[in-house]
Amino acid sequence: MIEKLFTPDFFRSVSGVIIDKLTQYLSDDSIRGLCFIPQPELKQQVKEMMQFNDNMPDIERLKQIVERYVETGIQVHSTGYMGRQFTPVVPFIPVFEAIGALVNQPASLYEAGQLPNIAERVMSEELGKYIGWEYPNYDMITTSGGSLANLTALLAARNHFFPEIAKKGMCRWTKQRVPAIAISADIHYSIQKSVSVLGLGSQNIITLPLNEKRQIDVHRAKQCLDSAENSGLHVFAIVANAGSTATGAFDPLDRLAALARSKKIWLHVDGAHGASFLLSTKIKHRLKGIHHADSLTWDAHKMLFVPPLCSMLFYRNKEMSYKAYGQDASYIFDSQHNPYIEYDSAYRSFECTKRPMMMNLWLLWAVFGKQMFEQLLDKAVKNSLDFYYELKKQKDFETLHYPQANIVCFRYIPNKQLSSEKLSELQLIIRKKIVENGRFFISKTNLDNIAALRTVFSNPFITIETCRELLDEIRWIYQKL
Ligand SMILES: *Cc1c(COP(=O)(O)O)cnc(C)c1O
Repeated sequence: MIEKLFTPDFFRSVSGVIIDKLTQYLSDDSIRGLCFIPQPELKQQVKEMMQFNDNMPDIERLKQIVERYVETGIQVHSTGYMGRQFTPVVPFIPVFEAIGALVNQPASLYEAGQLPNIAERVMSEELGKYIGWEYPNYDMITTSGGSLANLTALLAARNHFFPEIAKKGMCRWTKQRVPAIAISADIHYSIQKSVSVLGLGSQNIITLPLNEKRQIDVHRAKQCLDSAENSGLHVFAIVANAGSTATGAFDPLDRLAALARSKKIWLHVDGAHGASFLLSTKIKHRLKGIHHADSLTWDAHKMLFVPPLCSMLFYRNKEMSYKAYGQDASYIFDSQHNPYIEYDSAYRSFECTKRPMMMNLWLLWAVFGKQMFEQLLDKAVKNSLDFYYELKKQKDFETLHYPQANIVCFRYIPNKQLSSEKLSELQLIIRKKIVENGRFFISKTNLDNIAALRTVFSNPFITIETCRELLDEIRWIYQKL
């Protein structure tokens, strides 16, 4: 039996079953969001699938498991999916991805994954152009998620400004001024987590106020930085959004960069969601000034039609990429011993073993080029605008912001007399019912302390008719309450 597991025939027959099931899944063009199953029930089902027998392979059981796996996922390939920031995946990509898994090529060292490492370098060269950087002054490393990219960038910044901390540790840091960072009030929570890991202390986060478009208000930001300095803090990094998680707002990067430069502060741009829009001729102006950033997080697994993980961390100055993990850049660049060291990303990323995560993106880029991404992104943006204008026409709905990319937040207001508590509560109930009904999947967020419904147009194939059906469902849910 054990021998059989590794045979080509066994591989072929079992894989065929899985591919057939996935083809069936892709053929379903119904509108559906998520088949929500309470945890104890699903746990029971999972245990029932685990009865071992000698009948190998138990094809029926395998089919049942694949079905359950597919059914319990958020239905990203359906137009009922409007809730999260990850796109549907180009369907053949996961099959291509199986190559990396089968030949088992981790990507941290050149000799273990030659093609993945080269693909990373090549994609860095390709995408850097859209940031506006000149190869080879900048560099990019892949990380296991945008959260880790954010953490790594802040670590590099901290070590750059406080090399003594990198050596002596935070507790022996004796200089007067306390390291601090300044962030958008709408920042992703991975930044707070990074502050925790870095030991900076949550008290040393300066929250920068937003304007009515939910972008950092640069004028007031300057005042905040001035007063932080006066109170003995050394703000060494500003973290701005290029596409905030809540509403997709882009901070004014050019003006923030000027502010950061004038104060000698590192500007980190969290473009996990929105950096992909650099590939859209129509939207890229929202990232104006991005080339001044010191570092940029860019998740391809959010908006570029590849599965997780595929995250990139760009540094404007290549040498900075060696600061995060305490490698001396001169050793890397001056050493003649190992010409491949620049290709070994393990020196610059936290991971040792790492997924060969660039291969999927590189393949799509190699075969279809930038144009495919641009067309899909522009469709997604158009859909969100269509929905926004549809909402504006409805008297019982309130829009909360003009969509700067592909996120639209709104509220259902059946009755103008509702208090803000009641209004907030109603949005949460509606969102919960929508998800339970299973036809649509949308999310929620909090804007100015009142809950809001949040739609993300990650699936480019959503139609305005589907959006209207969503609004009808919301009204229907309210009537039933
Ligand atoms: C999703 C997201 C992150 C986190 O990225 P992961 O890849 O999920 O770790 C960080 N910042 C923003 C703005 C995001 O939208």
